[in-house]
Amino acid sequence: MTSQAAADPAARTGGDRRIIVMMGAPGAGKGTQAERLAEELDLPHVSTGELFRAMLKSDSPLARKLRRYVESGGLVPDDIVVSMVEDRLRQEDAARGVILDGFPRTLAQAEALDKMLQRAGTAVCAVPYIEVPGELLLERLSGRRICTLDDQHVYHVHAMPAQAEGICDIDGAELYQRVDDSAETVQDRLDKQLPPMFEVIDYYAGHDVLFSVRGDQPPEEVTAELLRLIASRSAA
Ligand SMILES: [Zn+2]
Repeated sequence: MTSQAAADPAARTGGDRRIIVMMGAPGAGKGTQAERLAEELDLPHVSTGELFRAMLKSDSPLARKLRRYVESGGLVPDDIVVSMVEDRLRQEDAARGVILDGFPRTLAQAEALDKMLQRAGTAVCAVPYIEVPGELLLERLSGRRICTLDDQHVYHVHAMPAQAEGICDIDGAELYQRVDDSAETVQDRLDKQLPPMFEVIDYYAGHDVLFSVRGDQPPEEVTAELLRLIASRSAA
């Protein structure tokens, strides 16, 4: 909390560069909202999931290191994630700012991001947190059903049901639930991911950049509220 960035109001707002960090549990709609904000605010959407996927296809010392962790099923260490994001923030299209999605995931990553931005003379300006009740997350995440013939045919028992229950609209094949989407697996994943996320949220609340938006309203309304809150922060 006593970082230079927090003490220096110019660094706090980061000049004209807008670094926005999206927060939200899996199933909160964070990725979708990040995409919409990127479009509305004309900033690149930087998703660490996509950075990982792109890097795994490339060949560099960092990519080889990353591949070793992913192949062994281990957690990717903070220093790899941080260098990847740092490289991305140096690219020209990020000069005006970015919408970060999937980073920082831990308190250590949040602190590393602040240091990295401080070196570049800027700081995180807004951290929208899309808040969704736990039961609803579970319902959203465990409702997915996939076609046994083609895994691109994806349904959701509430959000996008098939016309006939359990049957693919396109080819009439049976639908199934992936083990990854079962209630137990989903709950397990939430139990692991939520505590570090709350630490990051507390960190940003302490830096006065966090605001919450209810994620259990229609996606267009979530976007509108996010844009309103981000605009009011920029005007302040
Ligand atoms: Zn199908």
